[in-house]
Amino acid sequence: MKKNALKVALPIPFVEKEENLNEFIQNAIRQAKRYHASEVTAFLPSKGFRAVGYPTNEYITHCAKMFKTAREELAKHGIDLAGFYTLTVKSGRREDLEPIIRADGSEAPFSSCVLGENFKKALSQTIALFVSIAKPKYLLLEDDFSLSASSIKGCFCP
Ligand SMILES: [Zn+2]
Repeated sequence: MKKNALKVALPIPFVEKEENLNEFIQNAIRQAKRYHASEVTAFLPSKGFRAVGYPTNEYITHCAKMFKTAREELAKHGIDLAGFYTLTVKSGRREDLEPIIRADGSEAPFSSCVLGENFKKALSQTIALFVSIAKPKYLLLEDDFSLSASSIKGCFCP
């Protein structure tokens, strides 16, 4: 690549199951060649955690190991693999994480409070775990920290 050349990063959804990993890798190679991209940014860990709860360390480890395999394989083709970590405030509930409290005192079903000490610790530990194994070129973090999706007037936690 020429110095100061425009770098194109392609966003491609990552996969949840090992059996689909090769499909992701082949798709990433095909798309990178098609668009002359030197980087692929994988959306992960996956969709759907709002319904099933905050991801476990076991799941993040599984995801990170697959990411590492994909990163090493893509490097053979001159493609860097980065990540877009999508699970932040609206990542699903876990019993020990502080929920967003609505104006009527009820708990929001899938959002954690950004002020919650347990939530902040869990989020940073989850991301650190992923990065320590996956070693992405870079990791973008979902920036939708809006509280209004769960509680129109914000969080009313004590
Ligand atoms: Zn709160």
